[in-house]
Amino acid sequence: MLLSVIIPCYNEEQVLNETHARLTDVMGKIGMDYELIFVNDGSTDRTYPILYKLSQDDAQVKILNFSRNFGHQCAVTAGINHCRGDFAVIIDSDLQDPPEVILDMLEIQQREEANVVYGVRKKREGESRFKLATAKIFYRLLNKLSDTQFPVDTGDFRLIDRKIIDAFNNLHEKNKYIRGLISWMGYKQVPCYYERKERFAGETKYPLKKMVKFASVGLMYFSKKPLKIATWLGFFSVLISLIYALIILIIKLVHPASFVIGWTSIVLIIIFFGGVQLLTVGILGQYIGNLFDEAKDRPEYIIQDKVNF
Ligand code: UDP
Ligand code: MG
Repeated sequence: MLLSVIIPCYNEEQVLNETHARLTDVMGKIGMDYELIFVNDGSTDRTYPILYKLSQDDAQVKILNFSRNFGHQCAVTAGINHCRGDFAVIIDSDLQDPPEVILDMLEIQQREEANVVYGVRKKREGESRFKLATAKIFYRLLNKLSDTQFPVDTGDFRLIDRKIIDAFNNLHEKNKYIRGLISWMGYKQVPCYYERKERFAGETKYPLKKMVKFASVGLMYFSKKPLKIATWLGFFSVLISLIYALIILIIKLVHPASFVIGWTSIVLIIIFFGGVQLLTVGILGQYIGNLFDEAKDRPEYIIQDKVNF
């Protein structure tokens, strides 16, 4: 039995030695054969030299070195594509997901004969109120809009088995919302509750811009409801305009003398319809943009070097 651990890293020079030590310790307790696949996602700090040094001292350490920063989901995808394990664990490099939880995950996997054991965050330490609130709203909103049901407060920290790995390798979409895709696959999936810790060192590599892109992929790839909402908005605005037209007509017929053409109403109508049109075109545009990404069929990532593979 081989266990693969997939660790995406972007500018994590401050944490990697500690991450490697903690993971190695946990792997010793498990006693299975293992490989630690570190994916260097185009870091600009000393992440790669540190990983390289680790890989020279420890044959279990494997590196996929990207040609530039492709993003967290692409890094995890590369790890899954290249792992050889019967099981794989996806874990952040910053030790927010404690490596010791892998022991619980394996135990749950064995007891329940599960194909996926996903980590559920009971508590999140040391994260901004903004991040906690937006994450909470996002996971619940996604469930409301999507046809698939996803477990809430769940990240990518999880244990997956070979069936899931093989199914994942058959998915060809370019923008991946990995936690969603794995839920969508079905099989037996069970939760493992844990406390999400504070980052060991450094700061978050997920600024608002990346979070928005990530959320938008999650939403657009798992739901067509925004398109429906756009359509309903269109209907709604047509209805309002018809009612308004009727009112004007009646006033004109009943009180032709008192009828004054209002500047305010015209401006309001222009603003309203302008807004509705831009909004619906914007939603359409997002979907078309995603189709464009898929149609280009570019690879999701480019690997510059592989070490210990
Ligand atoms: N990460 C990555 N590429 C990126 C951004 C992040 O590989 O473009 C990695 C990062 O090194 C970490 C994990 O993804 O191991 C989660 O990122 P982070 O801890 O910054 O996110 P947060 O926990 O703040 O949501
Ligand atoms: Mg983190």
